Amino acid sequence: MTASAKRNSTAEWQAQDRKHLHPFTDHAELGRIGAKVITKAEGTYLFDSDGNKILDAFAGLWCVNIGYGRKSIADVAHAQLLELPYYNTFFKTTHPPVAELSKLLVEMTPKQFNHVFYGLSGSDANDTIVRMVRTYWNLKKQPKKKTIISRWNGYHGSTMVAASLGGMNYMHELADLPLPGHAHIKQPYWYGDGGSQTPEEFGLAAAKLLEDKILELGAENVAAFIGEPIQGAGGVIIPPSTYWPEVQKICKKYDLLLIADEVICGFGRTGYMFASEPFQIEADFMTLAKGLTSGYMPLSAIMVADRVAEVLNSFGDFNHGFTYSGHPVSCAVAIENIRIIREEKMVETAHDETGPYLAKRLEEFKDHPLVGEVRSMGLVGAIELVKDKKTHKTFEPVGKVGTICRDHCVKNNLIMRATRDTMLLSPPLMWTKGHIDEFMKLAKIALDATAKDVG
Ligand code: PLP
Repeated sequence: MTASAKRNSTAEWQAQDRKHLHPFTDHAELGRIGAKVITKAEGTYLFDSDGNKILDAFAGLWCVNIGYGRKSIADVAHAQLLELPYYNTFFKTTHPPVAELSKLLVEMTPKQFNHVFYGLSGSDANDTIVRMVRTYWNLKKQPKKKTIISRWNGYHGSTMVAASLGGMNYMHELADLPLPGHAHIKQPYWYGDGGSQTPEEFGLAAAKLLEDKILELGAENVAAFIGEPIQGAGGVIIPPSTYWPEVQKICKKYDLLLIADEVICGFGRTGYMFASEPFQIEADFMTLAKGLTSGYMPLSAIMVADRVAEVLNSFGDFNHGFTYSGHPVSCAVAIENIRIIREEKMVETAHDETGPYLAKRLEEFKDHPLVGEVRSMGLVGAIELVKDKKTHKTFEPVGKVGTICRDHCVKNNLIMRATRDTMLLSPPLMWTKGHIDEFMKLAKIALDATAKDVG
């Protein structure tokens, strides 16, 4: 039993937690069933206050790339806390961890990125990018260029601006979002759109929707396009190979800045250090968070391309920043995290070994009566549940079957997430083939139990 599990019983922790407003949580349901109390984690396993050992196939929230319980990260954080626990980077000040991490990120990321700005979350990073985009076009004397185009079902965070960039209707409702200056197009969801065209044709058609939207709004009013190379929370939507090169061409043609939100994809998730590489995205901004510290400390980084940085830097102060921008402990942890990812060859393993093995094993689910499609790249994947495998028709109401399946996963000590009726998978990159075998066994139990419930 862990120390915190010993201090209190599950019911006692849950009673204390009643005062806590949780993110993305139905509080009526929480009140009925109580929160699951996670007390410890090691490798890819979580331990709860009832003593269950749970396989985390979701790396926390797509973030714990190196796995839990890394002592060297704790050591680095401890040493940094003693040496310099805090200082800011405002007003021409710096400190060694932020300087060292900046050099490292510039070396690691695509060649156009030689500048980096820090935040604490993917949300504030995307918010900051919008501020930079506005500043850029104002300095370029094109102040009408304001609207940012993104995709329905995209996820870019929870601040007012990030949620406006995002295309989640349920986040817009009741908050009067999106804010003015945001427009959305359909996601490149080949399977969900029926899969009748070849993926390559579909990719071009999906990219063309961007051009249509630009023409509808007037190119002189459109500032930028933002997208996740693979849409994560929207259902692990892996675009056809033709999609991003065409998007890139359209952005060039109409003079739009291009933002690659690599918050999930970055740091090895897809079997590449950054997904911009396989999808051939040459972005003006890249948003990094999650895998940057593997979630051990909050930190985000915005990579800014030279052509943008030159304009931004041409004008005195950029009046923007957070008390914790470039926090020394977070930066020190990020450096150690990147060292681990590189030294343990996690990206190469996801690319050459575990990624292909996961893809092969997921194929076995294609024969399951509930499974319409499986898809994955590196160690991010999805199992899509449908009512009719031939027509791709979904269950009614959408989301119910996904929730049933997710609950069966939890009952069987497996964490997978559900978006609509798609089960999402994004495990720590330290997974071995053995972990994938264990996952397959537990996921099959959950899928079979769901099929029984659905009848
Ligand atoms: N961008 C993407 C692609 C994300 O998946 C997320 C979070 O899941 C965010 C941005 C927001 O990051 P955060 O939750 O750190 O604000």
